[in-house]
Amino acid sequence: MAGIIVHPEKIISYADIENLCPFGAIEVFPDQTVQINAGCRLCKVCVRKGPEGVFEYREEVISAANKAEWQGITVYGEICPDKTVHPVAYELLGKARELADKVGCKVCLLLIGNHLNQNLEDFFHYGADTIFLYDHPILEDFQVERYAGIMEDYVAKQKPSVILIGGTPSGRSLAPRIAARLKTGLTADCTQLDMQPNSDLDQIRPAFGGNIMAHIRTPYHRPQFATVRYKIFSAMEPDLSRKGDLIFCALPEKLQCRSRQLEIGIKPKIKNIEDMDILVVAGRGIKKKEDLALLRRLSERLGGDLACTRPLIEAGWMDARKQIGLSGRTVKPKLLIACGISGSVQFAAGIKASEMIISINTDPDAAINQIANIAVIGDLYSVIPALLEKLG
Ligand SMILES: Cc1cc2nc3c(=O)[nH]c(=O)nc-3n(C[C@H](O)[C@H](O)[C@H](O)COP(=O)(O)OP(=O)(O)OC[C@H]3O[C@@H](n4cnc5c(N)ncnc54)[C@H](O)[C@@H]3O)c2cc1C
Repeated sequence: MAGIIVHPEKIISYADIENLCPFGAIEVFPDQTVQINAGCRLCKVCVRKGPEGVFEYREEVISAANKAEWQGITVYGEICPDKTVHPVAYELLGKARELADKVGCKVCLLLIGNHLNQNLEDFFHYGADTIFLYDHPILEDFQVERYAGIMEDYVAKQKPSVILIGGTPSGRSLAPRIAARLKTGLTADCTQLDMQPNSDLDQIRPAFGGNIMAHIRTPYHRPQFATVRYKIFSAMEPDLSRKGDLIFCALPEKLQCRSRQLEIGIKPKIKNIEDMDILVVAGRGIKKKEDLALLRRLSERLGGDLACTRPLIEAGWMDARKQIGLSGRTVKPKLLIACGISGSVQFAAGIKASEMIISINTDPDAAINQIANIAVIGDLYSVIPALLEKLG
């Protein structure tokens, strides 16, 4: 980090400095204190053109973390309102195990909640070496300030090199809060992860609307935080011979929480598109909202669900939870039938891990055909009725 430092003792005339900054970042207050506000672009005009010695550009010397002190990969296992561990934790354990085996380090699972001591051996089978439990009645429900305090305590005591957090609504609120507290980096929604021998995490994610893949590293700071959405990675095959250590952690002495929880309501459980084995997906090849009934019939006939591309959400034709893609959900079904979809990078980002993709499109050059296992070139209004007839 760099910044502009003001040396007030060298100021002779305040009139000389007030209008010096082209971005209006120099503020002179009535008591004649001078501050550089957030408008500063570090252009250094004040240093070059201002009165001598008043403004100084200073580069902050980065003190790099001693990487040898920070060891292993920790996966945060989010406890859902129904008290189960969110399945993204199994996927993160699978990826953590792969990376840990590559560089020879440990995989830990961090659980925060109440009455957690049940069926924990499962996590050893799925890749954890050690489970750390913060188990206490005040941790019954997710409260971000309190949970961030716990994670800070965990980091101070265990010094993990990497922390992986599921890109769920609560994971997304916890991860930036704790990364900012610890003044370290966080990469959200990673789609690939790798690890250097020196424990630097390669964090890869789409950027600029999915048009480029950004490679991000945190070379000076520890721990390294990354969030990953559900269904991006795969859990490992359970190894029933794996065993591990269970460590109960004491609550930190000071655990601040300024918010008060008044009530918790559990939403009725609905089948999310991420959980479906078969998806029929509607794109802008559908001419009107009523025609979605045709695709819905196909999805019901196959025992799946109907999802869609973003333009259909924008048109108000379907519920936003049904959108697949970069700004929607990532899915990994056994069978996905893409109907009237061009295959933009933003949409394709959400379906790449599907086992079998069939596209139905009138355009033989549509990009979706490049990622489809089977490309049916034809009008969905004739292909789908024919398919339904065959299915009986
Ligand atoms: C930052 C950003 C994030 C985005 N996130 C997402 C996202 O999460 N999800 C998403 O879907 N989009 C997203 N988009 C939008 C994306 O760029 C595309 O505009 C969108 O995916 C196109 O949807 P589509 O394929 O349904 O429509 P189109 O691109 O219009 O394609 C329609 C296709 O239907 C075919 N077709 C037409 N009639 C028929 C017919 N009768 N039978 C068969 N085929 C037919 C056409 O040949 C064409 O290929 C995002 C864009 C940006 C900039």
